[in-house]
Amino acid sequence: MDVTDLAERIAAGERAALARAITLAESRRSDHQVKARELLSRLMPLTGRAHRVGLTGVPGAGKSTTIEALGLRLTRAGHKVAVLAVDPSSGRTGGSILGDKTRMEQLSVEPNAFIRPSPSGGALGGVARKTREAMLLCEAAGFDVVIVETVGVGQSETMVAGMVDFFLALLIPAGGDELQGIKKGLIELADMIVINKADIDPKLAERSARDYRAALHILSPASPDWTPPVLTISGLKDEGVETLWSQVRRHREVMTANGAWDARRADQNALWMWSQVNERLDAAFRQAEGVSALVPSLETQVRQGKIPPSAAADQLLAAFGVGGNAT
Ligand code: GDP
Repeated sequence: MDVTDLAERIAAGERAALARAITLAESRRSDHQVKARELLSRLMPLTGRAHRVGLTGVPGAGKSTTIEALGLRLTRAGHKVAVLAVDPSSGRTGGSILGDKTRMEQLSVEPNAFIRPSPSGGALGGVARKTREAMLLCEAAGFDVVIVETVGVGQSETMVAGMVDFFLALLIPAGGDELQGIKKGLIELADMIVINKADIDPKLAERSARDYRAALHILSPASPDWTPPVLTISGLKDEGVETLWSQVRRHREVMTANGAWDARRADQNALWMWSQVNERLDAAFRQAEGVSALVPSLETQVRQGKIPPSAAADQLLAAFGVGGNAT
């Protein structure tokens, strides 16, 4: 496979080439990884142009329904929309929360939409890398809106929030007690809270929105210029979805004007560099001959309490050539 050729096809917006490049980036083979990195370097000048939006919500909250309604609006308005998924469950259990059912049937046949399920297998860090690379590839192929969806499991929300410009939490109407159960961390990550399924009981949805506004009020906002709005919508009836998008756009205007937009991306890039260093160092470490030979017996001894973890770590690091501050 010729990287130059693939890069040209992607730049020309060829979907088959895009899909193929994402598969390359998802591959575990190291020669594929090298090619994927080369491809990304070539396409780098074409990346960074999309509005990157993350969306989280528990299974059944209405993520696919809402993304479909939003995606259809955007494609009809002339946007090219890519939808990527991060499913933290698929790696660990083999099962998947997001990917099994047929989702977004209408959007998936739109010529200006591209939907890609979660990369499977591997640790969350690996899923993050693959998703981020898929996002860059979509940008190079001309997609100007990239939506990354996830379920609120483990670290997946923090990870997705760390790769997007705007992070949206999709919730369903809840009473006071349930509200207290909501993870504080999620509210702190969210740039907007959207209460879905407002068509079922509009009064409950409104009350719920008021509760969330009050909850947000006691937290100091991440930016003095942006207090996360709380909206009620119906993804199913396509009500409030336009307002949702107008808030996403307003956020971009405000954050561009005060410089926070570029700063957020700069921070994300720097963090990304370090997470790449960590990921590859970790792999190199585990694969190093001297290290891998020691691991089984050292790990067994540590589990059995025969040697202190710190001493075992010293031995492993020494075998890798990192010497040092042994106690
Ligand atoms: P996801 O698991 O978060 O992607 O949720 P889905 O989009 O698959 O929606 C789960 C269920 O809720 C489906 O049966 C949807 O039809 C329904 N649903 C989604 N949004 C709404 C809404 O705004 N109103 C109502 N009444 N039902 C909805």
